[in-house]
Amino acid sequence: MKVERMKQLVDLINKYNYEYYILDKPTVADIEYDRLLDELFKLEKETGIVLDNSPTHKVGSEPISKFNKVTHINRLYSLEKSQSVDEIQDWITRNERLSSFTPEYTCEYKFDGLTIVVTYINGKYTQAVTRGNGTIGEDVTEQVRTIRSIPLEIPYKGKVTVHGEAIIRLSVLEQLNRNLDIPLKNARNAAAGAVRNLDPKVTASRKLDFYAYDVNYIEGCTFNTQVEANKFLRENNFKVADILSLVHNTIEMKEIIDNINNIKSSLDFLIDGLVFKLNNIQHREDLGYTDRFPRWAIAYKFEAEEISTTLNDVVWQVGRTGKVTPIALLEPVELAGATVSRATLNNYNDILKKNVSINSRIFVRRSNEVIPEVIGLAEEGSDSKDIVPPSICPSCGKPLIEVGANIFCTNHSGCYEQIIERLTHFVTRDAMNIDGLSVQTIKQLYETHNISYPWQLYTLTSDMLVGLEGFRDKKINNLLNSIEQSKNIEWQNFIFALGILNVGKKTAFVLSKRYPTLESLKNATLDDLTSVNDIGEVVASNIIEYFDDSDNLNNINKMLELGVNISFPTEVNQDSYFSGKKIVLTGGLDNYGRSELTKILQNLGADVTSSVSKNTDLVIAGHDAGSKLAKAQALNIEIINEDKLQKLLKSMD
Ligand code: NAD
Repeated sequence: MKVERMKQLVDLINKYNYEYYILDKPTVADIEYDRLLDELFKLEKETGIVLDNSPTHKVGSEPISKFNKVTHINRLYSLEKSQSVDEIQDWITRNERLSSFTPEYTCEYKFDGLTIVVTYINGKYTQAVTRGNGTIGEDVTEQVRTIRSIPLEIPYKGKVTVHGEAIIRLSVLEQLNRNLDIPLKNARNAAAGAVRNLDPKVTASRKLDFYAYDVNYIEGCTFNTQVEANKFLRENNFKVADILSLVHNTIEMKEIIDNINNIKSSLDFLIDGLVFKLNNIQHREDLGYTDRFPRWAIAYKFEAEEISTTLNDVVWQVGRTGKVTPIALLEPVELAGATVSRATLNNYNDILKKNVSINSRIFVRRSNEVIPEVIGLAEEGSDSKDIVPPSICPSCGKPLIEVGANIFCTNHSGCYEQIIERLTHFVTRDAMNIDGLSVQTIKQLYETHNISYPWQLYTLTSDMLVGLEGFRDKKINNLLNSIEQSKNIEWQNFIFALGILNVGKKTAFVLSKRYPTLESLKNATLDDLTSVNDIGEVVASNIIEYFDDSDNLNNINKMLELGVNISFPTEVNQDSYFSGKKIVLTGGLDNYGRSELTKILQNLGADVTSSVSKNTDLVIAGHDAGSKLAKAQALNIEIINEDKLQKLLKSMD
């Protein structure tokens, strides 16, 4: 029984190895592959049997004939993997048992690209080879020569082979994908496919990068530590990522793991973990190697963000603006700590580009707790069916129209889904902030009183609310109070509440500053709008179309008549310490409410955003600040506390 399963696993893993290492087109996600490999390792240990063609004691895969074969001077290895600090602790304990020294470890990014070794003789670039099976690799000298970060000459004149990773930056991948019929699904496969292409022109067109992380062989020079080797690489014009930290125990390791986990999504390249290596080279030799791994290094792998699952169906959802978007219904699957059963597909073009069909297996990605996204086809199912876009609105049955890559229902006043979505958006916190109006209540109000436009919410009376499900005196009063309070509204929130196509919170803010009155926004021309930073032609046209529609103007006028009172911005101070800065607030503040402080800072010309990224200029950290503060520290962003904030604000009085 166990041997039968082992045979199955060996065949499956060998197939996946071929697809991944040779074709650069995997059909399962890494996490699924890793699970199968772990299962095989376990069965081999339990039975004491290792089948002849088992992949467990090999690295990578055999080099293929389309490339010349090259024997590596020093063998290349894979890395032992861990997914918890406990596993790292076991590794440290083993190291300490096998050695007589007190270990110090470097911590580096684990780049997710294609491993390459590059040879220099007499200071000249002479050869580049893939890892292959670890002993023999493929000659990719001409392909790698096209990578700009590979120096063609280096100051060091002895023979040296440098070990590193060819990668594609995520921003470059995004640009490449704009012009490709079928987008490259992931940066790792895109980089591997580019290097392992026979035509170096294709490699060049992918604009790869190379990060060096080890010296694999060197004549006439020795290093005592990894730190020294990195210094040598840098002095010889290689791109080298900084050693993130020198660590000695799992407490220090955990700290760096948490920090990098927090900031990894803001990096412009893919990492799938961190690598801890013994810093002292002599100590490494003392520990030695297994047939797959160096004993002196371990990879900590971050939680996987990609998995494959079956696309069961696609439904078309009508949004507040009438845009009809496809939603993928998936065979539920666990990913990054959640069960994923729905994922976004942007539009029909996106479906065609990603080449996905119903009943096929697709890759889905969920990173940073954002909505999961379908990224492409893993494998077509035997009974797969094309996805057909609707020609009539799935909500109201009216014909749909195509605008660019999207389809729209133009029945704005009579389409149930649009009406409910529009009202739901209107009452949200960043819009009119009306508490007590759930989607269910909005549906009831539509069904019982035909409330379909936002202005009609301002005509609600207690008589109209009596009889709605769950509405008693207290709830009725609370809702009416909340509606009354919402009448005093900031200009930027009012713009957002209107629900103009493609005008989110950020654009609403930009518009509120550039057009500080209703009249000025209504009268803005296309030229004028496109001259505003962050507003492109599409968004500008959406704004113009919105104010050209008499229904929309009527809605605004009615709201004003019913007492909605917009606070337009006062003059913004453009010369303050905060002006022009992207600021993030985090933690508890004793002397300001969040929205109060946001407004103060905005009036001083700041752009207050919610998440920390490399573009953030300043973080204001109150008490008990958590991951945002950690991320800011890791990214070296200026951080001030409430005390300093108060002093700065005082100095501006
Ligand atoms: P690996 O890629 O997980 O780790 C080892 C490699 O990491 C080393 O060879 C080295 O080249 C690289 N590396 C990156 N940064 C480094 C640094 N700073 N220092 C040292 N080395 C660094 O292991 P592997 O054996 O190359 O491949 C296994 C991986 O490939 C697994 O993640 C597996 O899931 C994936 N895989 C997936 C499929 C699939 O079908 N999806 C098939 C085969 C393999």
